[in-house]
Amino acid sequence: MPHKPELETLAIHAGQEPDPTTGAVITPIYQTSTYAQESVGVTRGFDYSRTANPTRLALEKCIAELEAQKLDQPAYGLAFSSGMAAIDTLLRLVKPGEHVIASNDVYGGTFRLFDKVLKEFGLAFSYADVSQPDVVQMALRPETRLVWLETPTNPMLKIADISEISARVKKYSPLIKIAVDNTFASPYLQQPLSLGADFVIHSSTKYLGGHSDVVGGAIVAKDWASFEMLKFLQNAVGAVPGPMDCWLVLRGIKTLALRMDRHSSNAMKIALFLEGRPQIEKVIYPGLESHPGHEVAKSQMRLFGGMISVIFKGGGAAAHKFAESTQIFTLGESLGGVESLIEVPAAMTHTSVTGSPLEVPEGLVRLSVGIENIDDLMDDLAQALKKV
Ligand SMILES: *Cc1c(COP(=O)(O)O)cnc(C)c1O
Repeated sequence: MPHKPELETLAIHAGQEPDPTTGAVITPIYQTSTYAQESVGVTRGFDYSRTANPTRLALEKCIAELEAQKLDQPAYGLAFSSGMAAIDTLLRLVKPGEHVIASNDVYGGTFRLFDKVLKEFGLAFSYADVSQPDVVQMALRPETRLVWLETPTNPMLKIADISEISARVKKYSPLIKIAVDNTFASPYLQQPLSLGADFVIHSSTKYLGGHSDVVGGAIVAKDWASFEMLKFLQNAVGAVPGPMDCWLVLRGIKTLALRMDRHSSNAMKIALFLEGRPQIEKVIYPGLESHPGHEVAKSQMRLFGGMISVIFKGGGAAAHKFAESTQIFTLGESLGGVESLIEVPAAMTHTSVTGSPLEVPEGLVRLSVGIENIDDLMDDLAQALKKV
């Protein structure tokens, strides 16, 4: 067999054949809820669009192939109506009385789901500093069934060593699954399944979609048995994306490699530019040598991504002033689109963790660096800094 295509190639072709009936090169938007049956119960593989839809199937195959590009086995994908829907569906594999370890810097919405919704159903959660494999290991319990990693984390951009943690967890108990929320890195920068993880989760709203025009989520499972359970849950729970949304994500993925290259090179230059400015206490970017996770990031990521966090000496007031003073960086939540965004997590995306152990510094500003011209971006940040 010729070698597997590289990620740039898979991003354009995986899961997508020219349409068998018309030859359309691009997967059509199969905007249909139901399918004609040839005789009772005899279908062409589709009976109802909650269960399966051809546009969604193309997306599911595509994301799975991307996450499995470095594996010598296939992986299996499922698409959802949002990242949170994907996370909720995955967590239904954990039963009452069982225990989950998550990052103490987990995405705010994930924390809210765990702490405010799933805890009520009898699941137990511990939050650990996943940048320290020892700390994760100490949090393991006989009833632990899932370790939930993000790397880089949101918004503190901590790096978890996926292979090291996976090896220690599997040694403790092969019953414990490892899930990695790969939203920040995307499969172009990092493929957790090849580093020992069992599941990858995405908010495809972010880099996979890439254009801030769709909300979506995905799960990729490494083993068929888990996939079958998740596929059952996807249909039973029903948090599926519509065909148009699937199509937008498929289209976004085609330029994933180009975009991630530019996001990463722009972010690297901006991180270096911001580091050491008098108004700034700390620039957090895994590509900087000053980042404590730099070596691990280098070993498991192709490049360091488009997200930067900055802590201002002047606290909340300085952070607000800076975030309100940029002109190209738009003040707004979310991330991963082609346009640059800026936000203050403590007052915007992460209000749900205020007062919890996950609380973030008030002086923190998070940048989602887009793919605009780097000089324009730097000029914009320089003029905003002058106002702080
Ligand atoms: C946005 C995000 C989510 C949630 O995804 P939605 O598509 O907004 O539901 C989960 N994890 C991370 C890291 C995110 O950034």
